[in-house]
Amino acid sequence: EDMLLEVNGLKKYYPVAKGFFHRSNSYVKAVDDVSFAIRRGETFGLVGESGCGKSTTGRSLLRLIEPTGGKIVFDGLELTSLAPGQMRKSRKDMQMVFQDPFSSLDPRQNIKRILEEPLKVHGIGSSGERKERVEKLMNIVGMPTGHLQRYPHQFSGGQRQRIGIARALAVQPKLIVADEPVSALDVSIQSQVINLLQDLQQEFGLTYLFIAHDLSVVKHICDRVAVMYLGRIVEIADKRELYNDPRHPYTQALLSSVPQPDPKAKRQRIILKGEVPSPANAPQGCAFHTRCPHAMEICRQQRPLLADTGGGHQTACFLYSDSATSVG
Ligand code: SF4
Ligand code: MG
Repeated sequence: EDMLLEVNGLKKYYPVAKGFFHRSNSYVKAVDDVSFAIRRGETFGLVGESGCGKSTTGRSLLRLIEPTGGKIVFDGLELTSLAPGQMRKSRKDMQMVFQDPFSSLDPRQNIKRILEEPLKVHGIGSSGERKERVEKLMNIVGMPTGHLQRYPHQFSGGQRQRIGIARALAVQPKLIVADEPVSALDVSIQSQVINLLQDLQQEFGLTYLFIAHDLSVVKHICDRVAVMYLGRIVEIADKRELYNDPRHPYTQALLSSVPQPDPKAKRQRIILKGEVPSPANAPQGCAFHTRCPHAMEICRQQRPLLADTGGGHQTACFLYSDSATSVG
């Protein structure tokens, strides 16, 4: 298969200040052994509650955050072996769209300068060509070109996100990491932005990593979905498979809270006990065992690994296999 991105064993650990009684170093494992691959042209969803490590994963791919370990291969190039200065070309091919378009757009720059900036950074075009390109970008994202002299605060949230998307497209990337691109927008605007992203994908053959905190948004845009909990992926499946037959108890609980348009298909709402533990105090074994309705003894002792559970699912849960384990 033609994979644009392959992530293997990605880790991002943050050291915790040593306490008086704890002499050994300890770490917050924000991303702990995450592996997945994204096909060219696909939209891959990465879903989980806040603090589960999904944004850290997305940013590590572009090395906006330096990963602690693991291997990232993008378009045939192993990024993790490159010196930071050699990331330049790959940075151009991987762009990011952020959750909050207001804080990610410089308030002191007008739109023309904001959209020109990535072209300048990568030395693309003469000033005349850049101007032309910037106007084209505005058209592409459905914004009037007459607005180029305006500043970010003069636009609505939805328009600002269109500008954020235009900026990401400026250098003609192959992959866009969209980190909760519609979470900050009104529900009525969300579907417009999702539709725009889908149109742009068609037009430019883009590949998306689409990060979201629940399963309702990704339902309409993703081809495959990975669910994260406390720094680890607990399940990966084709979208239809994941929604029709969620295997991991955490996926089942997340899905049970997604509103169903068809009342006959109503799912039983699964209420999880307790809160998500702090990543600084992730439980041993299966990190989900403190909240899992099906937890068994083994779940407290050993960590389940992501394994093929049939139907195109990879699931990290002892309900499906007791062979794929590692000491938690
Ligand atoms: Fe629940 Fe055990 Fe499966 Fe973890 S491994 S999700 S605790 S059943
Ligand atoms: Mg986040």
